[in-house]
Amino acid sequence: IDESEKFRIEYWELEEAKLRRMPKPKPLATRVAFVTGGASGIGRATAERLAAEGACVAVADRDSDAAAKVAEELGGPDTAVPVTVDVTDEEGVAAALREAVRAFGGVDLVVNNAGLSVSKPLLETSTADWDLQHGVMARGSFLVAREAARIMTEQGMGGDIVYIASKNGVVAGPNNVAYGATKADQAHQVRLLAAELGEHGIRVNGVNPDGVVRGSGIFAGGWGAQRAAVYGVPEEKLGEFYAQRTLLKREVLPEHVANAVFTLTGGELTHTTGTHIPVDAGVTAAFLR
Ligand code: NAD
Repeated sequence: IDESEKFRIEYWELEEAKLRRMPKPKPLATRVAFVTGGASGIGRATAERLAAEGACVAVADRDSDAAAKVAEELGGPDTAVPVTVDVTDEEGVAAALREAVRAFGGVDLVVNNAGLSVSKPLLETSTADWDLQHGVMARGSFLVAREAARIMTEQGMGGDIVYIASKNGVVAGPNNVAYGATKADQAHQVRLLAAELGEHGIRVNGVNPDGVVRGSGIFAGGWGAQRAAVYGVPEEKLGEFYAQRTLLKREVLPEHVANAVFTLTGGELTHTTGTHIPVDAGVTAAFLR
């Protein structure tokens, strides 16, 4: 074989060796998770599921008391610590991730879940509404992901970043301009970060739930009443209404979203990055009425 052929073989051998060295997804029992908005709803159910699978969990939320309560319920400092953070605060986000590293020696699974909804019809949406919505969900999830990527690349052991995005980032719902636009922003953050971080063995994926009415602070805090008015159904029937629109006629609950986070991060989906799992009982695929 000539010199150039020899070089080609050596080059590919080296590339293959690098691939073998690349960090592989680890079982959850060896991992440290940082869940934003972990004190309520979907974030709380996710923290509970990850802890039940053996992960150590930082319950990161701007509501310190609720985060402390959840961390205690998950088993206290050996399993879970509360971390107070406002995800819109750059310094605060870096400090919060450092706190998780101090507690458990590293961070290799981050769930970008903190959120709120101030969506209104377009002509009633103020610039302040738009900025608040995008501050928490677009800027906040970017800040958390950037800091997580910094830590994970330094650790050199790969990792997972999961965005709790939404079907509202894929299809347009009524009176939803600020919320829907920011969920679409998160959806593209998933793809962009997956592209940049793949070579470090860091996978970036999203979960797209349908409306999760029961257990959601967002729905209890006014969004439920607003949605009920938009759809012309009593607020107490909203969960049922959402379920009846789906192909499976099933209501999506926080634990169903947590199941998807577990599936993405639990070690089996080794070749999945840059994509979203719908947890919507089929409503994004087709609507029947
Ligand atoms: P929730 O209100 O029950 O929980 C949100 C948590 O985020 C709260 O604990 C809140 O304190 C925290 N939070 C809000 N702003 C924060 C900030 N600036 N910094 C730190 N923490 C902050 O809501 P949920 O329904 O469980 O929603 C969680 C996520 O799931 C959100 O991103 C939401 O957009 C997304 N989602 C919800 C639904 C739904 O129907 N409930 C559907 C699709 C996607």
